[in-house]
Amino acid sequence: MTGEEGVEEKREERAARTIAVKHGIEFKLWIDEKYFVDDRDVPFSDPRKYPDVFTSYRKAVEPLRDAPRKTLATPKSLPAPPDVVPPQKEPFSMPDNYDDVVAALLKPLEQKPMLDNIAPFPKDTKSAMPFEGGSKAGHHRIQHLIGSGSMTKYKDTRNGLLGLDFSTKLSAWLALGCITARQLLDFEEGRDDQYKGTEGYGKGENKGTAAVRFELLWRDYMRLCTRKFGPRLFEIGGFRNDDSYPWKTPGRENPEVQEALQRFLNGTTGMGLIDASQRELYHTGYTSNRARQNVASYLAKHLGINWKLGAEWYECQLSDYDLSNNWGNWQYVAGVGNDPRGEARVFNPVKQAFDYDHQGDYVKAWVEELRGLSEPQEIFQVHKASPEKAKDLGLEGSVMVEKPLKKIEFRVGAKGGRGGGKYGGSSRGGARGRGRGGNHNHANGKHERKRTEDKATQCNGSHPIPVR
Ligand SMILES: Cc1cc2nc3c(=O)[nH]c(=O)nc-3n(C[C@H](O)[C@H](O)[C@H](O)COP(=O)(O)OP(=O)(O)OC[C@H]3O[C@@H](n4cnc5c(N)ncnc54)[C@H](O)[C@@H]3O)c2cc1C
Repeated sequence: MTGEEGVEEKREERAARTIAVKHGIEFKLWIDEKYFVDDRDVPFSDPRKYPDVFTSYRKAVEPLRDAPRKTLATPKSLPAPPDVVPPQKEPFSMPDNYDDVVAALLKPLEQKPMLDNIAPFPKDTKSAMPFEGGSKAGHHRIQHLIGSGSMTKYKDTRNGLLGLDFSTKLSAWLALGCITARQLLDFEEGRDDQYKGTEGYGKGENKGTAAVRFELLWRDYMRLCTRKFGPRLFEIGGFRNDDSYPWKTPGRENPEVQEALQRFLNGTTGMGLIDASQRELYHTGYTSNRARQNVASYLAKHLGINWKLGAEWYECQLSDYDLSNNWGNWQYVAGVGNDPRGEARVFNPVKQAFDYDHQGDYVKAWVEELRGLSEPQEIFQVHKASPEKAKDLGLEGSVMVEKPLKKIEFRVGAKGGRGGGKYGGSSRGGARGRGRGGNHNHANGKHERKRTEDKATQCNGSHPIPVR
């Protein structure tokens, strides 16, 4: 079997090994080869010494002259599947043909929708990642990215929200192991004839491929953090072991938190960017990195709700779900993970919408009921629309208009953001695009979090690439 880092995966590995040994069967554990830097090249012998900050990790593995290693040759044949399938306990049964396998997998999804009140798939909107499983489809996607020049343009487009090619959309194939990170950038060195004549072929690293490589290193790093911190990946205090935050938890005794969580899941918070992303996620299994950061920050930092509930929701919904990437990124944004700025980094979803969805096209694509609006301010926070407009849109009495979960004051062109972007802030993303601000206040022994919310997306000049 292939070695993985999760706590449960390690438990399975031990169980498989024990059974194999008991029955005299050779047990072979393969190194997981879907990462960019091979485990054998990680320059730290002891996981406890892995750096707590990404930049230190990146500097330790760069200049990456010999990475990635060559991929393993495709096996000429695979051993036949066993002829005996162990009997399954009721109510489970083992399908014996492909169609039945698919039907069995879809059954839980088709029996009952996970949300009762989700808006239907909006008219004329298309999935940003119409995913087709399997290695062949993954390789087609890589060919398309290189052939069309999208890989080379990636740095300038990666913060997009809407469309097929603003980012690679390779995450699901990478997460499932249909492709490995090592197969993405061979064309730079002119090692793969099929790409001859494409933009950047044989010309070494360019801006776009450097930015893709950077993200692939983040992915590697997240996995190493799981190896280092083990079960802390799932603990509320995160890698930082910080249990001081008064996270709100939904339940019978907290009906307002319960309601807020439900509206967050349904995409009816009244915050356009968040609602669009949540609906997109539910209907397609995908939402962009920019949107994910805003959603996570909104739940954890604006609503103060237990970040683990968001991580679990993503785990249920994402087609590119990856243990370390998901839980590690949620921790990071929630302020308990390996972000050196921790809790101080807060995304302002209104400012972010102005920066990355100038006219509100993304929000309107997924929140169909807002399509009649043309003012970005109103699209991004519909409570700002006049009662007459709301009535015209059929939104009279809607909670999104009358009871937004959070109102954020943000003036176009106001001071607060850095970088002089068109909307009063940088449009390029700061250190991982997460702004900072705010402080701790321990008045009366109570731990309160105060934050400056206008400063999302600041630039950190120390990064070679404007990140997230
Ligand atoms: C709260 C939250 C949860 C996330 N959950 C997941 C998850 O379960 N699975 C997952 O693959 N990614 C996750 N990410 C990271 C990132 O959002 C996705 O990898 C990316 O949006 C996928 O789209 P893409 O393939 O077009 O990415 P691109 O921008 O094209 O990036 C190329 C590849 O680099 C890797 N990558 C990109 N961003 C990150 C990142 N922030 N951290 C680690 N690796 C990254 C991915 O493998 C991605 O396919 C999460 C991010 C956040 C903020």
